[in-house]
Amino acid sequence: MPKYVYDFTEGNRDLRDLLGGKGANLAEMTNLGLPVPPGFTITTEACRSFLADGVLPGGMEEEVAAHLSALESAMGRELGQADDPLLVSVRSGAAFSMPGMMETVLNIGLNDDSVHGLAKQAGGNERFAWDSYRRLIQMFGKTVQDIDGALFDDALEELKDGRDDLELEAADFRALVATYKEIVRAHTGEDFPADPHLQMRMAVEAVFSSWNAPRAVLYRRQERIPADLGTAVSVCSMVFGNCGMDSGTGVAFTRDPGSGQQGVYGDYLQNAQGEDVVSGIRNTLPLQELENIDRSVYDELMRTMRTLEEHYRDLCDIEFTVERGKLWMLQTRVGKRTPGAAFRIAVQLVDQGVIDLDEAVTRVTGDQLAQLMFPRFAEETGTTVIARGMNASPGAAVGKAVFSTDRAVELAERGEAVILVRRETNPDDLAGMIAAQGVLTSRGGKTSHAAVVARGMGRTCVCGAEALEVSAADRTFTAPGGVVVSEGDVISIDGTSGAVYLGEVPVVPSPVVEYFEGSGDRDDELVRAVHRLMTHADAVRRMDVRANADTAEDAARARRFGAQGIGLCRTEHMFLGKRRSLVEDLVLAVSDEERDHALAALEPLQREDFTAIFRAMEGRPVTIRLIDPPLHEFLPDFTELSVKVALAGEEATEKDRKLLVALKRLHEENPMLGLRGVRLGLIIPGVFAMQVRAIAAAARAVPGSRPEIMIPLVAAVQELEHVGDEARAILAETGVEALVGTMIEVPRAALTAGQIAEAAEFFSFGTNDLTQMTWGFSRDDVEAAFFSKYLELGVFGVSPFETLDADGVGRLVEIAVEQGRTTRPDLKLGICGEHGGDPDSIHFCHRVGLDYVSCSPFRIPVARLEAARATLACAGSDTR
Ligand code: ADP
Ligand code: MG
Ligand code: MG
Repeated sequence: MPKYVYDFTEGNRDLRDLLGGKGANLAEMTNLGLPVPPGFTITTEACRSFLADGVLPGGMEEEVAAHLSALESAMGRELGQADDPLLVSVRSGAAFSMPGMMETVLNIGLNDDSVHGLAKQAGGNERFAWDSYRRLIQMFGKTVQDIDGALFDDALEELKDGRDDLELEAADFRALVATYKEIVRAHTGEDFPADPHLQMRMAVEAVFSSWNAPRAVLYRRQERIPADLGTAVSVCSMVFGNCGMDSGTGVAFTRDPGSGQQGVYGDYLQNAQGEDVVSGIRNTLPLQELENIDRSVYDELMRTMRTLEEHYRDLCDIEFTVERGKLWMLQTRVGKRTPGAAFRIAVQLVDQGVIDLDEAVTRVTGDQLAQLMFPRFAEETGTTVIARGMNASPGAAVGKAVFSTDRAVELAERGEAVILVRRETNPDDLAGMIAAQGVLTSRGGKTSHAAVVARGMGRTCVCGAEALEVSAADRTFTAPGGVVVSEGDVISIDGTSGAVYLGEVPVVPSPVVEYFEGSGDRDDELVRAVHRLMTHADAVRRMDVRANADTAEDAARARRFGAQGIGLCRTEHMFLGKRRSLVEDLVLAVSDEERDHALAALEPLQREDFTAIFRAMEGRPVTIRLIDPPLHEFLPDFTELSVKVALAGEEATEKDRKLLVALKRLHEENPMLGLRGVRLGLIIPGVFAMQVRAIAAAARAVPGSRPEIMIPLVAAVQELEHVGDEARAILAETGVEALVGTMIEVPRAALTAGQIAEAAEFFSFGTNDLTQMTWGFSRDDVEAAFFSKYLELGVFGVSPFETLDADGVGRLVEIAVEQGRTTRPDLKLGICGEHGGDPDSIHFCHRVGLDYVSCSPFRIPVARLEAARATLACAGSDTR
């Protein structure tokens, strides 16, 4: 039978999956010899069993009873015993910190008898005893019995009648206990449970059940925490911060979570219990004040914090209580911090000799770095925050409020910056979201349509700002305090913090981006920290990082951001703009002669494009993908052209008429699966050859350039053989050396990679298409249509277009890597889908042995850092 209960002296911090973060760290502190009130932890395994079966697992209650009696003999008191009661808290704690999501019940063991015993223990302090008792009923009623907490709060307010809580006396609390008991009776039809053991068992079960409370479920979904972990429960003997002014409760950080500066950061509240310190019932004191109140407790606390920092080798946050001049530690964990502080703290710890640079790199994440790369609002602006919502998609956006997609598009076309404001968005709002600088909604969470779509396209988004009343009909929204914002009024939204401002807030560029761009303040502490960690990351990582870049400007920017080459240069855009008419000529060509003529006109233009890119990359590899999308994308819209031709009647030009016929012929029901990629190259002779000739000529013009020619959408080796042979012949003719390889983006290509590698010198995984085709999703249609529902249903925890689906799509990648390398051991392997810039996907790429990832220029620093973290993570697990 599994062991369901661990004494605080038995566990340690490595057992957080089993004991939860709180239980594991209470055990760790106990073993460090810090003053932790004795207790024990019931495992998450017991919780999982309870949630699955609806009853406590067999044997658990006996184990709890045994640990409780051990606790009782250690404390010399029995739970809830009338004359001299032991009281305990029942505390929830999952493996991942879920702030405020699960509940804790204090003072368990109190009833009409033991309340007197408690007063006696405290030297006859009746006020304290009755205060503790009313707190028990309040917390128990709210969290265990599911009674509306406002009922208790209102009763307390009524009793206080304007008085400070310190002015309340024993008789007041005694009266409050009676009122609270009434509330419990009215709500449950039964008396408040007086039996201490029953109280404890009910509380334990309630904590277990709270794992599935709606807000916990919602929080997990937002934070992508698995739904099946369960929570542990710690039973901890009570210590009291509410038994006089020589007692109190507090929270603290071992260093400033905003800047990383070492010092004293925290709040303290005298004569108070538990959550009082964060609930705002009275103004808290800055922790420094404790030095004046009780010097020796203060010194001990400082020593304890230093011990914790040294032990955890990181910033910790703590919760503590002082009971009549004695310090008790009630919680610690490695503390949350701002992204900027994460970088600064990591480097500070290196400078202090606490950790080495390898470890420092593991202490910061690509997501944190990405956040530091968004422009931010200037801090001191005097502009008022009118509401707060969820920080759904980062960035700082300023613009005129608009309330419909049409209006957003209309104003944006006039060059105006707009913020689309909706109660919630739906797929019809897509055009408006694209046109807007940012999106603000009053309903919906981080997985709502607005949030998912905005993140997908990098739009700033604040969602679920529930305090706003949005009226699309009136084209206004109303914020608390009667602020009315009408269409055209300027607002600012902060997608990193969730704040909504009235008026224009000045935007400051990111100092980190300025650093990457080569400008900016090198002396800035944050910039120095980023520089040091990135330099080390580059030294550590195994994979190269390349950029997806189609123009010389993008290429130059990518290089400044640290790209070691171009992993994907799309040639499609080179056929747009003024060159469209040449493409039209190509499509309309009926004779070989006409076609060669059209191609000959395109070739010099292509040569210039490639020359500029090779120049920008100065000898680094450049993977050029031959033209991919279906031809009709370069041609006029069928309906528009039909109308034009119909209206012109007899006057219609010969070319328009011909185009219309061609469009009919080229029309595809399913262009994503139609004539594109290698298929196009095989069907319209000369297009690929023209591109290869242009590449070769450009390579000759820029000595030292390293072109890699990439064939898209290959599904069978035969396709590749045809175009590959043609390309190699041209290269041989021109005396240019270039690799010829293929995208792996069709499942069949992955499955037959062993054959394909016969004809390919490199593979680049096009995981956007590979994901579409593996799941059978048409990306443009499905994301807005039902991904939020799929996320809600847990079909996936994150969109497979955002993070590579390791089980399915990733399996195909693994197969292709393995088979490809078997055929050709020196096969070069990379990824060039959007996933190349996604942290989890980068770790996957490292694990399966790719040589490089390629991503958009802006994501390159993230990829450099995550590639290093992946290297360190794998090295770490090898040595273990
Ligand atoms: P949360 O997960 O919300 O932080 P905790 O279990 O840490 O919940 O409990 C909240 C607060 O209740 C603690 O910070 C502490 O002040 C108080 N508390 C919990 N257990 C005890 C205890 N045994 N003695 C005194 N105070 C306690
Ligand atoms: Mg806590
Ligand atoms: Mg593709």
